[in-house]
Amino acid sequence: MPYFNDDQLQMLRLLRGSDEVFAELSAFLSGTLNDFIAERIAPGAAANDRDEVFDAEAFRELGELGFMALPYPESVGGSNACFSYYNAGLESLAKADAGFALGVAIHGTATDGILRFGSELLRERYVPKLISGQMIAAFALSEANSGSDAQAMACRYERDAATGDYIVNGTKYWITNSLSADVFFLMARGPEGQISSFVVTNDNPGSFVKAKIKDKMGVRGSNTAELVFEDYRVPADHLVGEEGKGFRYAMHMLNGGRVTIAGWATGIAQGAFEKFGRYALERQLFGKRLIDLDNTKRELSEMAIEIDAARMLAYRAALLKGEGREHRKEAAIGKVKASETAVYVSERCIELAGGYGYVADSGIERHLRDALLARIGEGANEVLKIMVIPRTIEKELEALV
Ligand SMILES: Cc1cc2nc3c(=O)[nH]c(=O)nc-3n(C[C@H](O)[C@H](O)[C@H](O)COP(=O)(O)OP(=O)(O)OC[C@H]3O[C@@H](n4cnc5c(N)ncnc54)[C@H](O)[C@@H]3O)c2cc1C
Repeated sequence: MPYFNDDQLQMLRLLRGSDEVFAELSAFLSGTLNDFIAERIAPGAAANDRDEVFDAEAFRELGELGFMALPYPESVGGSNACFSYYNAGLESLAKADAGFALGVAIHGTATDGILRFGSELLRERYVPKLISGQMIAAFALSEANSGSDAQAMACRYERDAATGDYIVNGTKYWITNSLSADVFFLMARGPEGQISSFVVTNDNPGSFVKAKIKDKMGVRGSNTAELVFEDYRVPADHLVGEEGKGFRYAMHMLNGGRVTIAGWATGIAQGAFEKFGRYALERQLFGKRLIDLDNTKRELSEMAIEIDAARMLAYRAALLKGEGREHRKEAAIGKVKASETAVYVSERCIELAGGYGYVADSGIERHLRDALLARIGEGANEVLKIMVIPRTIEKELEALV
């Protein structure tokens, strides 16, 4: 099965056809990356889902291939490609193993933040190792009692006047990649209530404990943990940007993160669609193939329409991000559309396949379990529809008056 398909190629050509590196990069995606996914990611996806294992070794190999480096500037060791190429690759990874691909996507979000908001020292020390896959990053915003209402965070820091270090106390919850991560992009609250960001590593004085969150229903090929800090020292030069601006940085990073989740969720939908489609070609009933039933044809068409729409919105958001343009609304729209599409398509594919769709062997039910996270993470869909998207719509409508 190709993990990078003709629809993806067509979309990239439409967006980037005049790009002189299009031929080279689309060959990388449909050749090198596709082969890596087929040989290294797809075969272990079901077992990693069953056993709740994030394959950190495969992550490093993906880094060695140059995948994580695609959208970064050459000055830090990147390939300087438009973000749409990277996002198209994420779609392919998610099609094979959405748990693993979630780890890759969140790593990218955290890396983006260090590159964009971090000091020269932080960029030089961490970004080259992160984009080559030698290090893994996590994004630590959520807590058990503050998810959508992220400003209510309780994890706090204070400054040690003698050394200038920051001392962190508190917890974070739901943090993807935690058990494998070398670097955490952490948001915490200061003495005056201000929220600041830090790059936190594993090797400082104090206590930093990670407790695995087990028995997730989906994205089980990613690792998720609670972080517990007790008097954990973060060196003064590991503050990101300016004190008090951490929440702004986090919101900016989430805009980019939503672009990746839009591509990721499109991959889940495509995976379910293809698995059901292959089964429908072979399954015989009433003297016909399942795919020959009128209902199957109509439902496949409806799903193809939704997947195409999700992909176009995801790639549009990726193009805007890649070109450094405003993309808050487009990222949120792409994320909502792709997540709803992933849930809709994987649910329909289970029912349309009958009993076969209902068991793990088909691989289809995993897609539904994974898809349900896409509605919740990186800004729950309700929050995007009630708070994020309307803000831009209102401005656009006011401009018409
Ligand atoms: C597997 C997994 C991985 C994750 N990885 C990370 C990670 O790497 N880093 C990180 O920081 N976080 C991570 N998260 C956390 C995730 O971002 C939060 O779960 C998400 O933001 C929702 O927060 P919550 O779970 O606290 O739900 P709540 O905020 O308590 O929301 C509960 C319900 O209320 C709805 N709701 C919220 N606000 C409103 C509103 N104003 N109006 C109407 N409805 C509303 C929500 O849509 C939801 O349905 C992860 C979560 C999971 C499950």
